[in-house]
Amino acid sequence: MTTTTPRPHVVVAGAGPVGCVAAATLAARNIDVTLLEAAHDLPRELRASTFHPATLEMLEPFGIIDTLVARGLIAERFAYRERSHGVVAEFDLGLLSDETRFPFRLQCEQYKLCEALLDQFAEGDRVTVRFGAAVAGASSTDDGAVVSLQSGEEIPCDAVLGADGASSAVRKSLHLDFEGMTYADRYLVVSTTFDFSQSLDNLAYVNYISDPDEWLVLLRTVDLWRALFPVGEDETDAEALTDQSAQRRLQGVVARDGSYDIAHRTIYRVHQRVASTFRVGNVLLAGDAAHINNPLGGMGMNGGVHDAVLLGAGLAGYLHGTTSSARLDDYARLRRQLAIDFVQRHTHTNAVTLATPDAAVRAEALEQMRTRANDPDLCLEYLRTASMITAVQAMETELREVGAYPPLEPRSAT
Ligand SMILES: Cc1cc2nc3c(=O)[nH]c(=O)nc-3n(C[C@H](O)[C@H](O)[C@H](O)COP(=O)(O)OP(=O)(O)OC[C@H]3O[C@@H](n4cnc5c(N)ncnc54)[C@H](O)[C@@H]3O)c2cc1C
Repeated sequence: MTTTTPRPHVVVAGAGPVGCVAAATLAARNIDVTLLEAAHDLPRELRASTFHPATLEMLEPFGIIDTLVARGLIAERFAYRERSHGVVAEFDLGLLSDETRFPFRLQCEQYKLCEALLDQFAEGDRVTVRFGAAVAGASSTDDGAVVSLQSGEEIPCDAVLGADGASSAVRKSLHLDFEGMTYADRYLVVSTTFDFSQSLDNLAYVNYISDPDEWLVLLRTVDLWRALFPVGEDETDAEALTDQSAQRRLQGVVARDGSYDIAHRTIYRVHQRVASTFRVGNVLLAGDAAHINNPLGGMGMNGGVHDAVLLGAGLAGYLHGTTSSARLDDYARLRRQLAIDFVQRHTHTNAVTLATPDAAVRAEALEQMRTRANDPDLCLEYLRTASMITAVQAMETELREVGAYPPLEPRSAT
């Protein structure tokens, strides 16, 4: 009689984009996964909408790119503009066509990535998804880990991956610092069916718009145009969320006779924070649970997906005995360092470019963008950074140095 060794079992907390990609990465490496989501249905709030080329490459092995492209929009260029004078600098992502199979940004809401992966989990038998299962905390034990649910249930497992977002119960239960800063301005996001491209010349699908009084980001998703505005300390959340405030802001972008049809509005507090470590024994953190940043440049979810793929692959190797504990530490340290050196730095620079109240600094930042856009070498270098190709190359270089490259391809379908 032959006996079979049970597959290792990992609990992933949170079915956001990072938790879903982590579950897919683990399942593809022969790990049983329980994916716990606090909400009773997949959250479909409008947050991340941009997938960068480097992220699309990482998602390609899961066979979901065609689905995402079919449900999204291909943005071939993005632009920096001045509200009063139009385009200052336009960046053509097609210039990356020698470097990536995806020389574009994909405008596609983050929940569509989750839906595509949840469909795959439903067809396979390695990922068990439980909605309405709020995690209270997790701890590492001598031979694995234990997850506690708010219901009082406890789940012993081999390891836990906390992808339960910025307020992560997993991170809090580990008593880890979440150091960093909170911006004074909050961000108001307003979506409308009005087509701004009919009124503003040369509008790209993603536009960073500078202005002495009120900067904004204006971007297109499949169904809507979405505008992101700063909200200063002199305005409460409730005031910023009124119809009057949303109409006033949109009328400032394009003045119309009638009022705007507003599909959705939300206000966010914006931080730059990183957990003191991404690994405590057999418990790991990824995505917003591990690091949060301002959304300018669209790097939070993208960086979180990169965490999920590397940490998921590393954890699978560790549980199968092919990756040492020290190497898993290397992966966690590397992802933390990239969150600080790359994502935080780049997104904060974007915030300064747009939001600094100092007119001279703002003008200089825009002039730098213009110079970059007009110089082929500088333009390519900037496109690599903005598309997160530079960050992934830095990760690959470090992985080569520790002899751990390439770890990323999934080995089998879920
Ligand atoms: C306005 C805005 C625009 C943005 N645009 C972009 C962009 O274009 N590109 C980009 O890369 N990033 C963008 N971001 C950032 C991006 O939304 C986040 O980085 C991303 O959602 C992180 O994914 P995550 O899976 O780590 O966390 P989340 O998306 O927050 O998912 C966490 C999941 O865990 C669940 N959960 C929470 N607590 C528990 C618990 N205790 N137990 C079980 N489940 C739990 C939640 O319900 C949720 O489903 C934007 C953010 C904002 C606010």
